[in-house]
Amino acid sequence: MGIHNDVAQRPGAPAPAQAYGPSSPDSLPGEPAQAVSVRINQDLCTGDGLCVEYSPTVFEFDIDGLAYVKDGLGDLQTAPGAAVEVPTRCIRDVLDAADGCPGNCIHVVAADGTPVAGPDA
Ligand code: SF4
Repeated sequence: MGIHNDVAQRPGAPAPAQAYGPSSPDSLPGEPAQAVSVRINQDLCTGDGLCVEYSPTVFEFDIDGLAYVKDGLGDLQTAPGAAVEVPTRCIRDVLDAADGCPGNCIHVVAADGTPVAGPDA
């Protein structure tokens, strides 16, 4: 009974955001979703952990203290330079991680191979 005041339950209201990293957006408002992939050049990784902080869904440390990417099942891809597709909800955080990466070693590319963020963008 009664009126639900939950914003997410109003017709047309956006779905509730799910937090992934410091900026916590769940999507890219106003931007069409585009498939992007991400890889890390471990040769330049400083191990500071910024990327893991921004998007623990996509980035994780291995026992060598360097960051690697994870696939859609959460499995760490330990082959140097392995790339994974970024879940749509994580794209903004991955872009922010690439922009802030002190090693300048996070490469984000569109489906056609065009650099989106990182040292080649
Ligand atoms: S932000 Fe860049 S340098 Fe820092 S851990 Fe991640 S990949 Fe390595």
